[in-house]
Amino acid sequence: MMAGQEQHRRRVVLFPLPFQGHISPMLHLGALLHARGLAVTVLHTGFNAPDPARHPELGFVPIHEAFPAEVTSPGADIARQLLALNAASEGPFREALASLLRLRGGGGHQADVACAVVDGQCYAALRAAAQLGVPVLALRTDSAATFRSLLAYPRLLDAGYVPVTEERLDEPVPDLEPLRTRDLIRIDGSDADALRRLLARVAGAVLASASGVVFNTSEGIEAPELAAIRRELSRPAFAVGPLHLLSRAPAEQTLRAPDRGCLAWLDARPPRSVLYVSLGSVAAVSRAAFEETAWGLAGSGVTFLWVVRPGSVTGAGDEAPPPLPDGFSEETRGRGKVVAWAPQREVLAHAAIGAFWTHCGWNSTLESVCEGVPMLVQPCFADQMANARYVTHKWGVGMEVGEVIERGRVAEAVAKLMVGEDGARMRERARHLQMQATAATSSAMDSLVQYILSL
Ligand code: UDP
Repeated sequence: MMAGQEQHRRRVVLFPLPFQGHISPMLHLGALLHARGLAVTVLHTGFNAPDPARHPELGFVPIHEAFPAEVTSPGADIARQLLALNAASEGPFREALASLLRLRGGGGHQADVACAVVDGQCYAALRAAAQLGVPVLALRTDSAATFRSLLAYPRLLDAGYVPVTEERLDEPVPDLEPLRTRDLIRIDGSDADALRRLLARVAGAVLASASGVVFNTSEGIEAPELAAIRRELSRPAFAVGPLHLLSRAPAEQTLRAPDRGCLAWLDARPPRSVLYVSLGSVAAVSRAAFEETAWGLAGSGVTFLWVVRPGSVTGAGDEAPPPLPDGFSEETRGRGKVVAWAPQREVLAHAAIGAFWTHCGWNSTLESVCEGVPMLVQPCFADQMANARYVTHKWGVGMEVGEVIERGRVAEAVAKLMVGEDGARMRERARHLQMQATAATSSAMDSLVQYILSL
């Protein structure tokens, strides 16, 4: 690209939420927009900043925020963390965007900034962009089904489905099947009032400020949910996923360095013989659940690759991975590998992987679906329960590990999925779902670019 050509591209300004599961899809979207002729500037926080060297085609501008400890401390109450993050990033985001408009416009014109794309959780930045007169789209990094449940939240509150109560946990939620009350967005043990405020602001900002919504999902797996959203929102909704497949970006921008040694270890294993175990970048379990997981894996007799991330056991600190139980490494020697962070997409694409024990973060779910890998689900909070429900009851490509993590049940569930007949059926369906999910063409992205250019 010549410098002169770059100058004539219309510009899109991106603002990701600074967490792993949100940065990746936003940067994939940026790469795709750039490949279609748009210039892309990523405004980002200094906290969990992306690495500009990994995306030389995109411009990166820090917003110089000052986050309180409530935002940056690992293990923070997530609803309160997101409220505080929004409050503390609104001003710096507004200033950074305004100075970009001055810089680019040369004399007050905003002509070359076509629009902003802001993470859907960043309601304050969505509002700020709209107030500056910049058309803004919300990027949802979760499923269309989850966004539907968010739009339904006021109705569900009125009808008493939320806040979720013990007595109503198994009630199906009308119009959101196959979700039950227990699958709706919740964060156990956190401030329920803060969560209510957060969800209301997130939904409210889309309705008040966004000119459209972009989803990291595909029509192939969520067509009815997307159709319902389009009816309810009466503004454009683009399903441009699976972004990680379409963007062809060389590698994920991960905030931790992956242990690539596990790929060579996988090379030496037979096809479909290894269970990959990972609960993503945020979830933490109790020490008791961690130990039951370890001994369940040991008792299953199955070969496994387990991501034990610093901070993944509550109260164990986040400097180093939590220690494995005494005797575990000896017991599983030769058929288990433990790493602090894996190159997950490459792992899931590896022929040796037979199944994925996942917390069902949307990125992990989509990555597994796109490789045709069946899942053992252990959802922890937020949208993970809804994703898990779709995996087990809508798509039939996975099974629950059990509400209580207990070694005997773990060993049984692992063996059932890896070597049992149920597992074989799920693997077959997973291959079918993979075809549906990956059949997505670039036409949704083309429509999105046309829409951006029309704004
Ligand atoms: N991931 C990874 N290595 C790991 C664990 C996770 O690269 O060892 C990546 C994974 O591929 C996914 C992201 O981290 O893209 C996690 O996002 P997800 O939405 O699944 O869960 P979250 O971390 O937001 O709970």
